[in-house]
Amino acid sequence: MNQLHRKDGHLFVEEVSLEELARQYGTPLYVYSQAALGEAYARYEQALLGLPHLTCYAVKANSSLALLQYFAKLGAGFDIVSGGELARVLAAGGRADMVVFSGVGKTAEEMRMALEVGIRCFNVESESELQRLDRVAGEMGKKAPVSFRVNPDVDPKTHPYISTGLKENKFGVPISQAPALYRRASEMAHIEIKGVDCHIGSQLIDLSPIADALDRVLGLVDTLSRDGIRLKHVDIGGGVGIRYQDETPPDMSAYRGILHGRFKGRSEEIIVEPGRSLVGEAGVLLTRVEYIKAGEGKNFVIVDAAMNDLMRPALYDAFHEIVPVSETKAEPLACDVVGPVCETGDFIGLGRQLAVEEGSLLAVLSAGAYGMSMSSNYNSRPRVAEVLVNKKEIHLIRERETLQGLMAGERLVY
Ligand SMILES: *Cc1c(COP(=O)(O)O)cnc(C)c1O
Repeated sequence: MNQLHRKDGHLFVEEVSLEELARQYGTPLYVYSQAALGEAYARYEQALLGLPHLTCYAVKANSSLALLQYFAKLGAGFDIVSGGELARVLAAGGRADMVVFSGVGKTAEEMRMALEVGIRCFNVESESELQRLDRVAGEMGKKAPVSFRVNPDVDPKTHPYISTGLKENKFGVPISQAPALYRRASEMAHIEIKGVDCHIGSQLIDLSPIADALDRVLGLVDTLSRDGIRLKHVDIGGGVGIRYQDETPPDMSAYRGILHGRFKGRSEEIIVEPGRSLVGEAGVLLTRVEYIKAGEGKNFVIVDAAMNDLMRPALYDAFHEIVPVSETKAEPLACDVVGPVCETGDFIGLGRQLAVEEGSLLAVLSAGAYGMSMSSNYNSRPRVAEVLVNKKEIHLIRERETLQGLMAGERLVY
């Protein structure tokens, strides 16, 4: 994050000291930089400048209301995957007609909700879903705007759990079957064909799979056009990868080049659905060292954040850089940084060198995406607080969950 810097040995986000934030709000604590969010969004707008487009923030990356509100203010649309995310977007002031609805398992209830408020498009992932949507829209006397999520069968060269564009994945319809599906959709009374959609995976460091997928999808668009089915938009799915360790994220001018090269002279609107790259590097997770435990041949730095607060290391074996918030005179210690949860998989980082003491504050970097939104109450740990920093201003955007909140909605039986 460009907005993270050290002053007299202490880490700051914009003009706010992380030590100060931890004192004021406690730990663990997610901290986001508004400027970093804005800069990330501007990179997409810059790349798409001159082409008809809509940047739809993928809500699942971080669905906290204040972040949604900020993106809405910047003019973003939203990519959602559930009725809950739709409710969040609307609560945050997002416009329904700038929402696209992705996901393989939309319920009839979710479809009704989305039709009621008038979303921009359903990204349909199967023929069964198309039939259900036609029926639900018919019952409401409406027409459902759709695009099909096609599976272009390209290897995005990312982690298998976040790779979605190969033919063995559960997502989308095979691109070879798409023309027949579009033809059937064009005959349905309550379906209005709008576009095509693809999303081949997340954390893409190499742009060539995006370019290959796009070529295949545009080939389909032209085939359909010859059949008399004219699409209004092409949704190219999620955004580019970010820096966690030593990755070199794709150059946005190369990304711009790919899009401009392929869309110049075409009339379709481009929709992009970046999540991780809009919020990931804009957030850090602050955590305090509770104990240092010298094991045999290994030291454990036990912190107050755990896998329920940041699940990526446990789930994907993901790497997050961890740095001391304040420089100390302590000798660097070879260690695993682990949480208090009763699981061996509960680690934030393995095999690190950290100059820390008990009570030291650590910052876990690039934690803005798939951090808070994937958090849970496992081990009955209240969900952590979140703070948004804007220059000197500090906004508490989510209170730390209380013990009452932890048990809300539950009933005793005896
Ligand atoms: C997860 C997801 C995204 C966002 O992907 P990022 O890699 O976070 O940009 C976009 N579209 C769909 C359909 C998704 O499932």
